[in-house]
Amino acid sequence: MYVIDPPAQASLAVAGSEYRFPVRRIFCVGRNYEDHVIEMGNDTREPPFFFTKPADAVMDTPCTMPYPPLTQNLHHEIELVIAIGKGGVNIAEVDVMDHIWGASVGLDMTRRDIQAEAKKMGRPWDWAKAFDHSAPIAPIRPMAEVPSLEKGRIWLAVNGETRQDSDIEMMIWSVREHVAILSQAMELAPGDIVMTGTPAGVGAVVPGDVITGGVDGIGELEVTVGAAG
Ligand code: MN
Repeated sequence: MYVIDPPAQASLAVAGSEYRFPVRRIFCVGRNYEDHVIEMGNDTREPPFFFTKPADAVMDTPCTMPYPPLTQNLHHEIELVIAIGKGGVNIAEVDVMDHIWGASVGLDMTRRDIQAEAKKMGRPWDWAKAFDHSAPIAPIRPMAEVPSLEKGRIWLAVNGETRQDSDIEMMIWSVREHVAILSQAMELAPGDIVMTGTPAGVGAVVPGDVITGGVDGIGELEVTVGAAG
């Protein structure tokens, strides 16, 4: 018995299926490709760190993502996405793959001007990262159909012009490593999503732009940037 209607379960499409993947939490890895760390003017030797988005920030793709409020500098970040199917705490690196249900590709959309202000003022990143519709994600592909989480081209284009083009093997902290480290901080649970960081080439989009991107063998997405509101 609830005093108001409980919120709908946030979820994502599953590739080739009518079933959906229920989303519990979204963890994001900061600064996980050396070329992006350098383009943002940071130190490549730092241990990995994490931030979060609310579960209901996810959007199935293809979609039109409303241009968010409070920003003049909305950036794309293309990322390999991991979907946790089995929870755990202090997961060993060798056991991480047993906890992953599937993988996909998604966008960690970022209000870069708000993030820059937050960094300068020593404030949290939430307003830069955790806004409504900030996580468009392609259908989740079950691990049985995923060729590799260690190698594969990751790319993004805006209106057909390539902006980000790298390989997931360029991650500073591999999936095994950063999921193991994440599980030391809190108990992972089925439904948790990990967005694993972005390579260099991030940049602004404006209403009307069409973002395409993918990770070879795992998925592709298309997101149109809509009008403000
Ligand atoms: Mn990111």
